[in-house]
Amino acid sequence: MKKTSVVIVGRPNVGKSTLFNRICGKFKALVGDEPGMTRDRIISDAEWNGRFFEIIDTGGITLDDSELIPRRIYEQAKGAMDKASVILFLVDARTGVTPLDRELARLLIEQGRPVFVVANKCDSPKQWNEAQEFYELGFEHLFPISAEHSINVGDLLDEIVKTFPGTTTVQASPSPEISVAIVGKPNVGKSTLLNLLLGEERSIVSPLPGTTRDAVDSLLTRNGKTFRFIDTAGIRKKSRTHLLAEKLSVIMARKNLERCDVALVVLDAQEGMNSMDVTIAGYAKEAGVSVILVVNKWDAVEKSTSTMGEFETDIRTRTKYLEYAPILFVSAKTGQRVSKLFPLIEEVAQARRKRVPTAELNSFLQKAALQKATVPFNRQVKIHYMTQVGVAPPRFVVFSNRKGRLHFSLERYLINRIREHFGFFGTPIIMKQKLQPRGK
Ligand code: GDP
Ligand code: GDP
Repeated sequence: MKKTSVVIVGRPNVGKSTLFNRICGKFKALVGDEPGMTRDRIISDAEWNGRFFEIIDTGGITLDDSELIPRRIYEQAKGAMDKASVILFLVDARTGVTPLDRELARLLIEQGRPVFVVANKCDSPKQWNEAQEFYELGFEHLFPISAEHSINVGDLLDEIVKTFPGTTTVQASPSPEISVAIVGKPNVGKSTLLNLLLGEERSIVSPLPGTTRDAVDSLLTRNGKTFRFIDTAGIRKKSRTHLLAEKLSVIMARKNLERCDVALVVLDAQEGMNSMDVTIAGYAKEAGVSVILVVNKWDAVEKSTSTMGEFETDIRTRTKYLEYAPILFVSAKTGQRVSKLFPLIEEVAQARRKRVPTAELNSFLQKAALQKATVPFNRQVKIHYMTQVGVAPPRFVVFSNRKGRLHFSLERYLINRIREHFGFFGTPIIMKQKLQPRGK
């Protein structure tokens, strides 16, 4: 069986060997080499809380080609990273973010493995706050530690082993596949729509390992993109009583929303929206997935010029929390506008994985004249800068002069402007607030 490997990368002298020694405890790495000096990557077995893994110190990976030995070390580091379960991206909290850190960050983002940014040399807790600046590198997990004084290293290891296979929180790596769940109450036309979408093009129907035995996904390749329709067996499942069918549809919706990137929340145009639809739409919001509201059976509705607008207003009023979700009026029976669904799914799935560089975000902040936003109760909030720390769904951290969460209206305003400006179409946006370290 393939070993779980934890790989330490970082520019020279940030303390990789020191951390390596700390973690494996017994093997001696070469500490105190001249920066950039040739050395083999060092591997050791390690254990934490009963979880075994190998730890790899990549040596001083440098992307600077004026270095004497970068190629070989670079290749080795790259090889190790490709196989890594988790990458520890070590940086030096005392020097702050350097250009080489930024370069390495770019490489690691492209590489797509789970990354923990580890801000080393935080020998005293007051440096922890300052280490927050490393969020700028664009990763979600940031740990201040002191490898030398063994501060916070245990907490870091706790988090690392949680990501190992076989435990619950496995981080999603960017996948070229788009997972789609079709959810809605009974009889809105989910299976009719699914059949139409799959059409003749479906290539594989596969039971997925690790899911319940009767869960069957359908895979479909279209214009070079793979769409995974989740639990299509369940969609076809019909139960005898109406009540049971309703309950089943809610349970299925919750379960399938956990696994998808994009949810098609199907509504029945003939019936309009009821509380059941609102409940299911609410789950889609909670799951943090991208949502397309699909109003089906549009063929069966008597229409005047204002019908669509009225419908839309009704939906928007009842599902304010899904304001980002596009609405599409279709007929699964006649096929009307169904061809628009695939491009729309692709568009929202792409927007969900979009990553905006910190520099662009901050020039947007300046243009949006948001640094001195006035919020109710006359409290002035000064937003210093912000950075995107994750995708799918997009997550941002805002640094300001205030502790605690941004005022609701300000947060909402910011989120909407970001969505509009950078095209985060159909996806929820998550925003966290951090206090800007003093003196920065
Ligand atoms: P590497 O080149 O990244 O492998 O870095 P080393 O592990 O060789 O460490 C470089 C220098 O940083 C050494 O002098 C270490 O003693 C020092 N160092 C490592 N960890 C810490 C730490 O937590 N705090 C402080 N103050 N110094 C550290
Ligand atoms: P599910 O329970 O959500 O999977 O719904 P079904 O796909 O089984 O559809 C329920 C009923 O609605 C069936 O009788 C379908 O023929 C009908 N239906 C589905 N889509 C449409 C549509 O676009 N227009 C009309 N008029 N009927 C539809």
